[in-house]
Amino acid sequence: MESRKRILITGAAGFLGSHLCDRFIKEDYHVIGMDNLITGDLRNIEHLFSLENFEFYHHDVSNFVHVPGKLDYILHFASPASPIDYLKIPIQTLKVGSLGTHNLLGLALAKGARMLIASTSEVYGDPNINPQPEEYWGNVNPVGPRGVYDEAKRFQEAMTMAYHTYHGVETRIVRIFNTYGPRMRLNDGRVLPAFIGQALRGEPLTMFGDGSQTRSFCYVDDLIEGIYRLLFSDYPSPVNIGNPDEITIREFGEEIIKLTGTDQKLISLPLPTDDPKQRRPDITKAKSILGWEPKVSRSEGLKITYEYFKSLPQELIEKVEH
Ligand code: NAD
Ligand code: UDP
Repeated sequence: MESRKRILITGAAGFLGSHLCDRFIKEDYHVIGMDNLITGDLRNIEHLFSLENFEFYHHDVSNFVHVPGKLDYILHFASPASPIDYLKIPIQTLKVGSLGTHNLLGLALAKGARMLIASTSEVYGDPNINPQPEEYWGNVNPVGPRGVYDEAKRFQEAMTMAYHTYHGVETRIVRIFNTYGPRMRLNDGRVLPAFIGQALRGEPLTMFGDGSQTRSFCYVDDLIEGIYRLLFSDYPSPVNIGNPDEITIREFGEEIIKLTGTDQKLISLPLPTDDPKQRRPDITKAKSILGWEPKVSRSEGLKITYEYFKSLPQELIEKVEH
């Protein structure tokens, strides 16, 4: 009988899921990755396939989820995550946040597993207060284009709390703020891969609106550490994990121009509907409950990420269709 703890990670072939797989392999877990590859890429986890303590299921978690054997933990990270992805596949996005979460909570209940869900700063919508503490209920347009993602995630949180309260399932909720790093998809439409991809191809950088909207970017290693600590805490209410270093998108574009040395400029395109005007995490809870705060500065994190994108095969850099 295998003595290792067993963890199911959904969205394993995606950006965050693949980094979580690496972390739990490093901690000597038996990792079961699950993904339907709708926005993920097997190249993110191919280095794990030869390991005896890693297995992969190609499965859509919006359908009934079966995993043989014992299960100690479930991390539910399957979901399209970038605005252009979830606008392209809105129904699947709603389903994976709602039906997928329900299936996995059912699995957690059946197996006696602890489950952590990947929620998001998008539950705060276009926030009226800045920074956003966990107590803020948000300002979401349920029928706007982003509603398919935001409401799926709000439902996901509600369903998770209900399983905790009514079925006694051990649950954790992380509200993730914009995170970046190696293994993001160059063409996923999020601002960082968009800007770096454009710089590498010698195209102008497409700033939406006047660039006065803000975001706060967290390097992936910091996020993974925060998630790891939250999973092993005893705190079932939502916790923000993100880097409070807030910047306007215009300034961010200028940083990318400097970093990449491109001679391109920022050009302004229309601001998407309901694009949040400001976003910055209040991380008081993460600090006090988890003893966590980000360690990697934006300049360090951006350098590492740029090196990663530069090292990709040229055909991937050139491939921009969404
Ligand atoms: P990603 O697109 O790189 O990864 C998501 C993965 O989920 C992909 O591999 C995709 O194929 C898989 N997937 C989607 N629907 C599925 C389904 N029905 N069944 C099985 N697999 C499915 O995105 P990411 O940035 O790694 O995001 C991972 C999670 O973190 C998502 O739940 C996202 O909402 C959340 N999140 C991410 C960020 C961020 O900044 N990266 C911010 C907030 C929340
Ligand atoms: N954005 C931009 N140009 C792009 C892609 C995004 O100016 O090519 C802006 C977008 O309008 C938003 C910010 O960058 O204000 C962050 O967008 P992203 O899609 O990365 O994440 P989210 O809006 O979910 O925070």
